[in-house]
Amino acid sequence: MPDNTRQSPGLETLAVRAGQHRTPEGEHAEPIFPTSSYVFDSAAAAAARFSGEDPGNIYSRFTNPTVRTFEERLAAMEGGACCVATASGMSAIYATCAGLLKTGDHIVSSRSIFGSTTVLFTTFLQKFGIETTFVAQDDVDEWAQAIRPETRLLFLETPSNPLTAIADIRSLADLAHAHDCLLAVDNCFCTPALQRPLALGADIVIHSATKYIDGQGRCIGGAVVGSQDIVGEGVYAFLRTCGPSMSPFNAWVFLKGLETLSLRMQAHCASAQALAEWLQEQPAVERVFYPGLSSHPQHALAGTQQSGYGGIVSFEVKGGQAAAWKLIDSTQICSITANLGDAKTTVTHPATTTHGRLTPEQRAEAGISDGLIRVAVGLETLDDLIDDLQRGF
Ligand SMILES: *Cc1c(COP(=O)(O)O)cnc(C)c1O
Repeated sequence: MPDNTRQSPGLETLAVRAGQHRTPEGEHAEPIFPTSSYVFDSAAAAAARFSGEDPGNIYSRFTNPTVRTFEERLAAMEGGACCVATASGMSAIYATCAGLLKTGDHIVSSRSIFGSTTVLFTTFLQKFGIETTFVAQDDVDEWAQAIRPETRLLFLETPSNPLTAIADIRSLADLAHAHDCLLAVDNCFCTPALQRPLALGADIVIHSATKYIDGQGRCIGGAVVGSQDIVGEGVYAFLRTCGPSMSPFNAWVFLKGLETLSLRMQAHCASAQALAEWLQEQPAVERVFYPGLSSHPQHALAGTQQSGYGGIVSFEVKGGQAAAWKLIDSTQICSITANLGDAKTTVTHPATTTHGRLTPEQRAEAGISDGLIRVAVGLETLDDLIDDLQRGF
């Protein structure tokens, strides 16, 4: 596999070192700055800060040193000029849209995106006169046909959840730029350890830090990465005024998470690959969805734009919902929860949880069958995970 994450300094060095500005105390680990505001030496110094003449901290809705360390570190890892941290992944997506779009603008989005993102686009942005057309993740022609003169943003996440369909980032970036649009990629599933969308031509990278960046299921947070112009001005202007900023404590958890991200992602990928190969051999399994399998229709594309195939494996069991629920309920190690990107393996029945609000026809169109199970492979001993799933067959 080509390593599109290769950079100098290396990703792991940036993950451990970037963004740290040691204080005169000489601390080795990054400190947490739990402060809402900052003091000035004089009234004149305060005035200079507020006027922007003297750059620096005023209030933690705008900037905070711990949050800034996280932002600088993630920006370096994604290869972006600028990063802004947000209170959640959803507020990162909302801030991107609210900061960069206006009434009358149009979005073309993959249909295979996070459920709340779909609701954000169809319910809330729609209310402010921003329309979205949804297209197939893996059909570049359909994206091209959906673009209108007023289209400003192309939006996708890849691999998709839960079926791991791959979007061709480079082709869609070229398409976006040919029409004067921006391409935003939700990079939550791969993280910069496996995929760097900016290097493939995307303009904006969005994260739910809640998932692999935290990596241990503790905090909610998000981030937007891109150029100074788009993110440092467009998105940040919205954030500092409208307020979904990241807390310093959460930023500290996430920046420590970044230090081990690459190692963890390699372990998630290795176990997911082995689990997918094992599942493929099981007589009770109809079909396995994992980009690392040669049976995956976009195995080759995944291999060119990712440096690992990710930690999410989905599979269909024979016997529909009853068989799927039996397997899920038989597990003793896996957690039955819809979260992902955790050291703890999680198991989900998409048809009755994450995709439960769709009509049966919409589910069928999205390929979410009643026998489908999604496993977000954690860091437990692989043989224990195999035994755990074996129990339900
Ligand atoms: C979880 C998730 C989000 C939303 O992030 P929150 O931190 O829960 O707000 C967005 N995109 C993807 C792909 C996700 O998995």
